Amino acid sequence: RLSERLQAVFRQLSGRGKLGERDVDEALREVRRALLEADVHFRVVKEVLERIRARAVGEEVLSSLTPAQQVIRIVRDELTELMGGANQGIAFAPQPPTVILLCGLQGSGKTTTAAKLAFRLKQQGRRPHLVAGDLYRPAAVEQLQVLARQVGVPCHTGGPQAAGDAVEAAAQGVAAATEQGADAVLVDTAGRLQVDAEMMEELRRTRDRVKPHEVLLVLDAMTGQEALNVARAFQEEMELTGLVLTKTDGDARGGAALSARAVTGRPIKFVGTGERVEQLEPFHPDRMASRILGMGDVLTLIERAESAMDQKEAQRLTERIREAHFTLEDFLEQLRQVRKMGPMDEILGMLPGLPGGAGSLKGLQVDERELGRVEAIIQSMTPQERRNPQIIDGSRRRRIARGSGTQVQDVNRLLKQFEQTRTLLRQVAGAPLGAGRKASGG
Ligand code: GDP
Ligand code: MG
Repeated sequence: RLSERLQAVFRQLSGRGKLGERDVDEALREVRRALLEADVHFRVVKEVLERIRARAVGEEVLSSLTPAQQVIRIVRDELTELMGGANQGIAFAPQPPTVILLCGLQGSGKTTTAAKLAFRLKQQGRRPHLVAGDLYRPAAVEQLQVLARQVGVPCHTGGPQAAGDAVEAAAQGVAAATEQGADAVLVDTAGRLQVDAEMMEELRRTRDRVKPHEVLLVLDAMTGQEALNVARAFQEEMELTGLVLTKTDGDARGGAALSARAVTGRPIKFVGTGERVEQLEPFHPDRMASRILGMGDVLTLIERAESAMDQKEAQRLTERIREAHFTLEDFLEQLRQVRKMGPMDEILGMLPGLPGGAGSLKGLQVDERELGRVEAIIQSMTPQERRNPQIIDGSRRRRIARGSGTQVQDVNRLLKQFEQTRTLLRQVAGAPLGAGRKASGG
């Protein structure tokens, strides 16, 4: 993994006093290899390395940072810049409705993304409508209708006048949505398996008819370098305003995210992180850069926690994480919140580079049905034991097991999980929490 590779390089750097040309070159050789392995386009790698080098060599070593931290910071800043700097959301039209055209290859996730965006906009209090512009496959229209019902937004599929003409159907759909008071209209379109002239021609005609404010290209992150070729082709034909990277949940390398913006000059606005309609997130270049560098996506984690927990509890937990005070009482509270936040492994995946990769998460994966048992164990402890688990010796373990109707092994396992979590949170507390806080979602 990229993050692990980079961390190894930076460990070698730590302890040295100054950023010499040799140190930087050695580190950058590894950065280069890691980026290429992450499937970042070679030209992009070359460019970003030049910028990092120019900044790093001879830079005064700040007293507050180790040389390693300083290089990491420069690399992070440059990767952030490479991915577009700050987050950019939908640019809403001054005069509603904002028309958003989604294009991309078949299977890239256009229809899913249209529904996800509608869901998101609706949650923000807007009135989005969906419009079908893919009439070739009957199943495609039905898919959009099903999703629209699920999200609870109107869906326009083209009346008899459209007579199977996708451009006409899209235009009629937008007109109907406007008439019905939509303030955002998401137009789904048909894709092909490959870029071809006919698809582009139809897209251009659709664009000319519906006059979109946003033309978003939906790219499948799993296709790696190929996604970049697709992006380039669409960028030449359509005036794209932004990109949506889907299936990032399956893309371990992150290369597409790193190069897509550099190749097209257009920002990644959103990323898809799963199949469900709520699994779309605003793209934050700074957070992505931190994640790639193995600092973990603490901000996303905290943000997600905040949306699930009540504000006060989130504040308290955040502070405790920062201070690295974390007791079994917090652990219990956190486990209770986990059900609201999403799967535990997903949450833990956002924590800083775990030694041993995802495998080390196994012991931490919490079977949600076990929560009751965990609760019982913690409740059988005295307040003092909850705050100072190190005092829980063998006889206390036996007492707790009896009190909670569990086995001593269960108590042991829980204490071990707690220790692992606490170690992780200490790492989190060491990560730069302040970075990027200003960038707001769209
Ligand atoms: P379209 O042909 O471009 O309209 O693509 P669809 O929206 O029909 O999506 C194709 C497949 O990709 C579907 O099975 C989706 O559920 C899946 N998909 C879309 N976005 C994501 C994502 O972010 N993560 C995952 N895991 N699957 C996705
Ligand atoms: Mg589709």
